[in-house]
Amino acid sequence: MAMFESLSKRLEGIFSNLSGQGKLTEDDVNAALREVRIALIEADVNLKVARQFVERVKQKAIGADVMGSLSPAQQVLSIVNEELIEVLGGTDDKNKLDLSGAPPNVIMLVGLQGAGKTTTAAKLANYLRKQGSRPLMVAADMYRPAAVKQLQTLGKQLTVPVYSEPMGANPVDICANSIAYAREQACNVVILDTAGRLNIDERMMNEIITIRNRIQPREVLLVADAMTGQEAVRVAQDFNQAVSLTGMILTKMDGDARGGAALSIRSVTGVPVKFMTVGEKMDALEPFYPDRLASRILG
Ligand code: GDP
Repeated sequence: MAMFESLSKRLEGIFSNLSGQGKLTEDDVNAALREVRIALIEADVNLKVARQFVERVKQKAIGADVMGSLSPAQQVLSIVNEELIEVLGGTDDKNKLDLSGAPPNVIMLVGLQGAGKTTTAAKLANYLRKQGSRPLMVAADMYRPAAVKQLQTLGKQLTVPVYSEPMGANPVDICANSIAYAREQACNVVILDTAGRLNIDERMMNEIITIRNRIQPREVLLVADAMTGQEAVRVAQDFNQAVSLTGMILTKMDGDARGGAALSIRSVTGVPVKFMTVGEKMDALEPFYPDRLASRILG
């Protein structure tokens, strides 16, 4: 994975210095972990998260008996791997999309303009349809006129129905009306593409809070741009405070970012990452699997 290349190379370099020794001494571990900490910070991982990460690895590593066929370096790497999985969200069921409510289950997407919200709505619809669902997409972003058209075009391309109303309609009503429409059309999942702004402002937040309260979606997912690093983490904190997110989708994980957002966002906010997107094509959305991502990070 391109975005983590420097981190994984660095870890490999660090741990190769540990090989060939019989036992992990405190000095060995400290020296390696200093480098791990620097690598994490260079990857734009939140400082507090990096510090806690290193502390946990240290506690597990120091004094650990070198087991069987594992070299000391492999052993530390395996502890780092375990901690990476943990910091990315573990193997909890909370990482999975919850569509267990009475249909139609509503997934509300929120996020800043440019994060990839509209294209992610379509990718998610495509994904869910492949899983056997009948999704409806709802164009409720009335601030960016092109967003409605964009969603309609994507809907046509995927043959997924799109609910929209003329420009000027009230976004809260659009969302409410779309639920009735979904029932009529026998759609069992509704994906709401809500208003995005360049920055968080009160009007946008009030609108999404009103939609959340009125519609009571099963899922409220923040679409966050992984390329923006710690900025994505701050945005996630703000949205979570305002609307209580149930999950997040990290976009642009194919990009050239340093990986800090993916490694920090879960532990800083406590909100699970449920999906990531890895490109512009409609099939470039995957469930977020911490164990697979950790292996990719370590190379
Ligand atoms: P919105 O303003 O949040 O609705 O953003 P859009 O869905 O219009 O996406 C903004 C831009 O980001 C578009 O050019 C998308 O193709 C691009 N984009 C979204 N997700 C990804 C991704 O995972 N990888 C890449 N490379 N580009 C993406």
